[in-house]
Amino acid sequence: MKARRITPESRIAVLGAGCAGLTCAEFLRLRGAKQVTVFEASDRAGGKVWSVPYEGAPAGGRGLFEAGTVFFVPGPVWSHVLSRYGVSTEIAPMPSVRIADLSRGRIRHPLAVSGGWSVFQRLIQTGRFLRMLERYGPLMDQKPGLQAHARPDVAIPAGEWFTQAGMPFVRQVLLPIAGGAQFGPGLDQVPALYVIRLLTLLRRYPLVNQLRLAMPQLRAGHDTVWRRVAQAHGVRFREAVQRLRRLTDGTVEVETTNGGYRFDAVISTLPPGKLAAIADFSDAERVPWSRVRTLSRVVLTARVSGLPPRVFHAPRFQDDGSIPPAHPYLQYEIDPGCGWMTFHPFLDGGRTVADAEAACRDVVARLGGRLESIEHRALIPEWFPHFGEQEVRDGLYDLLESSQGAGNLWHASELFSGISVPHATEYARQLVGRMLPDTAEDLTGSPLR
Ligand SMILES: Cc1cc2nc3c(=O)[nH]c(=O)nc-3n(C[C@H](O)[C@H](O)[C@H](O)COP(=O)(O)OP(=O)(O)OC[C@H]3O[C@@H](n4cnc5c(N)ncnc54)[C@H](O)[C@@H]3O)c2cc1C
Repeated sequence: MKARRITPESRIAVLGAGCAGLTCAEFLRLRGAKQVTVFEASDRAGGKVWSVPYEGAPAGGRGLFEAGTVFFVPGPVWSHVLSRYGVSTEIAPMPSVRIADLSRGRIRHPLAVSGGWSVFQRLIQTGRFLRMLERYGPLMDQKPGLQAHARPDVAIPAGEWFTQAGMPFVRQVLLPIAGGAQFGPGLDQVPALYVIRLLTLLRRYPLVNQLRLAMPQLRAGHDTVWRRVAQAHGVRFREAVQRLRRLTDGTVEVETTNGGYRFDAVISTLPPGKLAAIADFSDAERVPWSRVRTLSRVVLTARVSGLPPRVFHAPRFQDDGSIPPAHPYLQYEIDPGCGWMTFHPFLDGGRTVADAEAACRDVVARLGGRLESIEHRALIPEWFPHFGEQEVRDGLYDLLESSQGAGNLWHASELFSGISVPHATEYARQLVGRMLPDTAEDLTGSPLR
């Protein structure tokens, strides 16, 4: 397939108006691209960044909850869009994360979970953990994308890796939180690469927040800025891409629910299963995509009574920290004292949303409260948390990266970048720089509104 040189005059399509697709559109424009079209299947910008207003917020509350992205993790792209599109960077602090040991009915600060370690041992291991963040963090920040970090020494399961690195206590207390944020069931078996990468994001907070495990949210809501970016770039909402064909002349034909178009280059941010179903992949290209395994997850927001204000729990049930199927891995009150909580269960093993709702009721009851009514459900049907150890060892990330630009199809999806807004957006920005290397970002221009 012919590779075209991409210039500011090229016709470029971006598939998906989540934060990655919108970052591509924004930085393509800042590098002078004049013909950028963004297609979005839904009627909403932001994708998994989704802030939902609710009635009856207490004074000083945000009056909205996050049905996707929970924590605001700062980064250069966030800073750029917030400033350029005039969205306040005011922070709403979240409560510190506590471990709710539901089989014993205890709630503890993670660093106070004893598990047989003396205070001295816990402090030593916490010090090792902070040094580990400094060892891996700077390079991981510098090189967004998973390929640069997918080495055999971090392909081994996270449980084993943390034990070998002399941090069994950190494994006990931090891995359940990482599981809630990203990985779901079978956390110990997740290659250490992904867990380390997620945890290095903690470095982006002041040390006191790292130790308190108190993370921020944006008071204005996480999707506000992405809605503005989408408006500035004229996103074509409710126009789902249905087929992609790379033609021998180097152009790409894109078929959507509204018609057919030709582009000189296409950047996809679609979930992996969706892209694999509509693209004209060769057999060789299909290899890494066929090894993607997705999970379903749901974010439930409910009114609860009988619980203290300002709770943020990562539940633990048994001594091994395992959580029964469909139970939430994280749950927190959305505004201090509002009586609404958001729950993060995974629908593993064929569990349904109804199973997850029942499990949330159970968890609230174990904590001495009552779940009154489910008010919002956000279903995430194609969650790709990670490859397995063998896939990382087999060099699937090298295969994926070597396919960048084949037939003028480029990728800025979570499959390449990893999961989190900073990873998604910083990878997308770097990709645009690779596509248009002869141009510089003009960050000084006035807001595109
Ligand atoms: C519950 C949850 C909690 C999270 N917590 C955090 C957190 O605390 N901090 C953090 O930084 N990150 C967090 N993340 C991760 C972060 O939200 C994602 O990594 C990031 O938003 C991914 O952005 P994206 O643009 O790559 O993908 P998406 O947001 O998935 O965007 C893809 C877009 O493509 C569109 N699309 C799909 N099919 C088509 C089609 N055929 N045609 C056109 N468009 C299509 C979709 O509608 C969507 O808008 C969380 C995610 C979830 C789900």
